[in-house]
Amino acid sequence: MPIIEMHGVKRFYVMGDITVKALRTIDLSIEQGEFVAVMGPSGSGKSTLMNIIGCLDKPTDGVYMLDGLNTKEAKMDEFADIRNQKIGFVFQGFNLLSRTTAVENVELPLFYNRKKRISDSLKRAEAALKKVGLGTRLDHVPSQLSGGQQQRVAIARALVNDPAFILADEPTGNLDTETTIEIMALFQELNDQGITIVMVTHEPDMACYVKRIITMQDGLVVSDRQVNDRKKASEDLQAWRVSHSQL
Ligand code: ADP
Ligand code: MG
Repeated sequence: MPIIEMHGVKRFYVMGDITVKALRTIDLSIEQGEFVAVMGPSGSGKSTLMNIIGCLDKPTDGVYMLDGLNTKEAKMDEFADIRNQKIGFVFQGFNLLSRTTAVENVELPLFYNRKKRISDSLKRAEAALKKVGLGTRLDHVPSQLSGGQQQRVAIARALVNDPAFILADEPTGNLDTETTIEIMALFQELNDQGITIVMVTHEPDMACYVKRIITMQDGLVVSDRQVNDRKKASEDLQAWRVSHSQL
């Protein structure tokens, strides 16, 4: 069963006499274990699609099944529960609480989990931070961490609920090249451990880390392809970097 399944999903924004067809018709299926990049020009509908996948918005028409649940039938509070329990979010700007330690930031999603009270939240947050290589930074506040480390905290926060998948919107947009490579390598490592990742990215460079690339244009998916040989794609990119650094 796919984790994400869309049939005929449309999202129109109506503003007076004008209707913007942000998503025209999307049919999409993403299985457990995939690592997907969603690409495409500005205004092509990527964020609108992410908002629907992330249960922050509902389609104007069509069906979105998340992990076998029909999101259309969910009431508003159930919808929020689905979002909190099934999805880990990573944002471009990290979105950490600034006066809160790394481990407390990571614990936060556990407090929103209304269905079951979690008594071992601290342990789980520590384990998530260890997983992203920050086991020695538990009590640091964001200003004491580098940009890459802050994004690692955000990734740990996304993982702590054991979500069905991670949704990342331009997660490396605020990072320098070196840190970007480091964060993408971390995502790749997590994906190798079986975590499903859906990521919006502008940077074609990111394509070498993922397993599948979906390209959007004018509210439609215009290309959807598997990256068959990630290792080769990485080596090609590395060779390209070396040749360009010598220019
Ligand atoms: P992308 O993320 O690929 O840049 P978006 O999903 O943000 O694209 O936008 C797709 C289209 O929908 C654009 O034409 C945009 O102007 C329009 N749009 C997005 N959000 C809204 C909104 N809240 N109200 C009206 N139009 C919107
Ligand atoms: Mg966008």
